[in-house]
Amino acid sequence: MTDPAAHFLPFARPDISEAEVCAVIDALRSGWVTTGPKARAFEEAFSHFLGGAVQAIAVNSATAGLHLALEALGIGPGDEVIAPTLTFTATVEVVRYLGADPVLVDVDPLTLNIDPAKIRAAVTPRTKAIMPVHYGGLSCNMDAILTIAREHGLKVVEDAAHALPTTYQGQLVGQLASDVTVFSFYANKTITTGEGGMAVTRNPQLADRMRVMRLHGMSRDAFDRFTSKTPAWYYEVVAPGFKYNLTDIAAALGLVQLQRLPQFLQRRQHLATRYQKQLAGLPLVLPADAPAGDVHAWHLYVVRLTSSARMGRDELIQALSDRGIGTSVHYVPLHRHPYWRDRYGLSPEQFPHADAAYQSMVSLPLFTAMQDSDQDRVIATLHELLA
Ligand SMILES: *Cc1c(COP(=O)(O)O)cnc(C)c1O
Repeated sequence: MTDPAAHFLPFARPDISEAEVCAVIDALRSGWVTTGPKARAFEEAFSHFLGGAVQAIAVNSATAGLHLALEALGIGPGDEVIAPTLTFTATVEVVRYLGADPVLVDVDPLTLNIDPAKIRAAVTPRTKAIMPVHYGGLSCNMDAILTIAREHGLKVVEDAAHALPTTYQGQLVGQLASDVTVFSFYANKTITTGEGGMAVTRNPQLADRMRVMRLHGMSRDAFDRFTSKTPAWYYEVVAPGFKYNLTDIAAALGLVQLQRLPQFLQRRQHLATRYQKQLAGLPLVLPADAPAGDVHAWHLYVVRLTSSARMGRDELIQALSDRGIGTSVHYVPLHRHPYWRDRYGLSPEQFPHADAAYQSMVSLPLFTAMQDSDQDRVIATLHELLA
């Protein structure tokens, strides 16, 4: 018998080609390793990718970008920010950084995206912002969310960590009418810089504030615009900022990954389509496709066991692992984590759809460097275990 560990198929793996290796080596040899020309070029390429009407602010994580976005929007103590419970803790930990309170709501059972009706019901006089998360790479119902925001004078910050590239009614996420949209370049995301992120906005005031706060609250860039005779050593600190800038080493990697994004998307779409076809008929709820004409980024491929399945979620994950197949769970909903549960007195009954999804869900391997034959093995194993 072959040792399954020798053939272990991970749930995700970054796709780094020789081009990225060369680009990083160039950055290292250039003598400029921190934020500089490569980071600037990455921002410009990213803005161009989104049609050029947005400013892009490169940061060292999406978490940093989300923090900067809420800070620039003036979110502070006493404010409430509405977000889904079925997300990574980073979405809302940044709300707490600013002393404000996240208000978690349930998701739509079909898409697993935040349910606009639940947002509407959660609005109070303290509500300042909504943070939709495009779960798995499928866009939220942005019309409904932006309508609620307009009606109540709320800001919208999109957590687009899964949504590169995702479209909503033909427009890319990042081009929509929200205030700020934040992408992640973490190792398992659709493109990676190791660690990194990008905040994009059409609002120049927000862009300026995020740029200043990204680097210690130093106003050098803004100051330069007024007095070009200022000596190079001079800067002014205008706020206690953060250290959130992206290095040129990471940006060099990101520039190549962004060029490869169209091929990455094609590969993800190919793999997702095969899963959709070949897992049909098993006791699984398969992920919702994007509406006709729209793009699903397929960052994740999340299936849910139906109640007629012959095994539960934990047993399935173990059986797959025993057969050399890695999976994950996205996510243990926030209402089940001790910090969020205890601080806000949350219980599963308040979030029936997210909680039921959590208890039955498995994220299957989906990454661009995965071979069709790897996927065939996942599909065959699921048939063996569940059919
Ligand atoms: C990955 C992720 C983040 C955080 O991204 P980082 O770049 O690691 O900070 C935030 N929200 C969601 C939904 C994510 O999946």
